[in-house]
Amino acid sequence: MKSKLIFSSFLILVLTFYSCKTDKKSTSNQTVVSLEQKQEWAIVIHGGAGGITRESITPELDKEYRAGLQLAINTGKKILSEGGSALDAVEQTIRTMEDNPLFNAGKGAVFTHDGRNELDAAIMDGSNLAAGSVACVTDIKNPITAARRVMTNSPHVMLTGAGASQFAKEQGLEIVPPSYFYTERRFQELQEILKKEKNGTVGCCALDKKGNLAAGTSTGGMPDKKYNRVGDAPIIGAGTYANNNTCAVSGTGHGEYFIRWTVAHDISALMEYKGMTLREASELVVNDKLVKAGGSGGVISLDKSGNVSMPFNSTGMFRGVATADGKEGIYIYKDEGGRP
Ligand code: ASP
Repeated sequence: MKSKLIFSSFLILVLTFYSCKTDKKSTSNQTVVSLEQKQEWAIVIHGGAGGITRESITPELDKEYRAGLQLAINTGKKILSEGGSALDAVEQTIRTMEDNPLFNAGKGAVFTHDGRNELDAAIMDGSNLAAGSVACVTDIKNPITAARRVMTNSPHVMLTGAGASQFAKEQGLEIVPPSYFYTERRFQELQEILKKEKNGTVGCCALDKKGNLAAGTSTGGMPDKKYNRVGDAPIIGAGTYANNNTCAVSGTGHGEYFIRWTVAHDISALMEYKGMTLREASELVVNDKLVKAGGSGGVISLDKSGNVSMPFNSTGMFRGVATADGKEGIYIYKDEGGRP
């Protein structure tokens, strides 16, 4: 009797351990890539989450978005496959999307309530937890590069507004007149006060051949924002996080919730302290905790084995993935396939 009891307790323990370590099949409608073998390198990107449906996007715009996502993926893929660093991949990949007026970052940034463009960006190195970010900047062409310079060339983590611009100038980065960020489409969007949000923040997570993870996010923030509002993207642990021991995460969505629920770090913490897989942790935070909180959006996440997760609780999220074994995919809508 006693030995039977010991045996069944042992069995329960083994089963519990096993179920924690195994990726369960998702019942929700997300893009999830679960890779059997460890990847030499991997990249995952997002171009924002929001009210994105087949009805709200014309076929032409659909094509343009896919081309923009593909260009971004190709950029990162080339760097990583040639042995470049995760940080370089993240920075250069995000720059392509910052220069693309379709995305709400850099050139295509949304407008504030006062008709200005204020940009936020962050980057994080998972190998040593170094991080840099800029917030509320109005004249730096590529905020992700400024964020990286803050990380590598300053003793600080976060610079804002005019001070961040001054630093970028001192670093020799390209400064543009604030009117550079004007796009007719975004301006009209503001005029309509964007009832159905269609955000396009950009983000990238990369794993390089040395096994290092990095994450970056760049955004124009929420349309119609006021008072120099800063969102989650430049806040380490909220919209951006990377740690070689756990994962790299970039978020997109209603920033106030991502800040209060420390979304990116929460995913990492669930892996570190609860032993969850990347997918379990990402799904729990985005499709359970955030949903209960009322926060819409999604994340892209990547672990050190090259497993990728891209859950979102909005109607769509621009996203793409590529891994060393040749798997690749670009997705926009909720009903699109799960594996590249
Ligand atoms: N998370 C961004 C912010 O709140 C917006 C977005 O992702 O669309 O600033």
